[in-house]
Amino acid sequence: KRTPAILDGVAIAAQIKAEVAAEVQALSARGITPGLAVILVGEEPASQIYVRTKVKTCGELGIFSEMITPPESITTDEMLALVACLNAREDIDGVLIQLPLPKHVDTKRLLEAVAPDKDVDGFHPVNVGRLQSGQPGLAPCTPAGILEILRRSGLPVAGQNAVVVGRSDIVGKPTGVMLLNASATVTVCHSKTVDLGRFTREADLLVAAIGRPGFITAEMVKPGATLIDVGINRITDAAEVEEFFPGDPARAAAFAKRGSVVVGDIHPDAFAVSGAYTPVPGGVGALTIAMLMQNTVAAAKLRRGISLGS
Ligand code: NDP
Repeated sequence: KRTPAILDGVAIAAQIKAEVAAEVQALSARGITPGLAVILVGEEPASQIYVRTKVKTCGELGIFSEMITPPESITTDEMLALVACLNAREDIDGVLIQLPLPKHVDTKRLLEAVAPDKDVDGFHPVNVGRLQSGQPGLAPCTPAGILEILRRSGLPVAGQNAVVVGRSDIVGKPTGVMLLNASATVTVCHSKTVDLGRFTREADLLVAAIGRPGFITAEMVKPGATLIDVGINRITDAAEVEEFFPGDPARAAAFAKRGSVVVGDIHPDAFAVSGAYTPVPGGVGALTIAMLMQNTVAAAKLRRGISLGS
């Protein structure tokens, strides 16, 4: 039996970031500095970490960034005014609203208020439509990262039987569209799918974006399949950690230290029968910020009529 290949998201992200840094340098020679504005409302600790990492990565790659931190009490109208101001600014190419927003703020209205050409998260309906119809535009970062992992690992997509479990607007649905655009035969499954295993067992390429620890088990996958695990789930129960990683001293030590470990939506037993898989952490998650940086540079170019290849 062949040992499954581990698809190293951290290494691929480093490669992409190096390419983005080179593009930023080339733009700088033409007097252009790409700029990203990130709006972070309130004090949610996880969001604060994400935003700080985004801003730090901008700095490393030579991208200008600005972090705007309105208080939790900000209204939808005030947020709309802020977004309008960023849309109009010449030095800002990307506008990112860190989600989730407080309940009293109308998220849908705000995402639609971001200028489509500055929508580096790819959530605006115009960009959703562009992606759907295969036009150039800004694609959502996590699905774009999945496609990059496949491409840079030399894994085939065209003609493959691809099954995506999850249909969220952020991950599952756009991943299905991107795989279809890349000529895979795509099935998108969700919580109402009857007999999920019947579909997943047919997949040459299986993407799990569910949000349930270890939900995809070994008997649900085709031996030798490529497994892409998008899930980020924190488990805090010692017995569960032992069930996931029996006799694994490194995980046990990590658990003892932090009181939790992060696991994906695919069970390690399923990885063992795969042909290749993305680990959690260090797989898909590692790509998301690199793709955001790539989108920011793409936005800077598209806005100035510079073709993406140059
Ligand atoms: P959502 O909760 O928005 O969507 C989950 C999807 O899984 C839904 O479509 C749901 O179906 C489906 N689902 C739930 N239970 C089942 C089931 N029993 N059988 C089949 N399908 C099921 O989550 P997201 O898409 O936002 O995120 C998914 C996971 O990916 C999470 O763990 C999240 O943390 C992670 N994530 C990682 C990112 C990264 O790596 N950078 C970025 C974004 C997310 P239905 O539509 O019918 O309810």
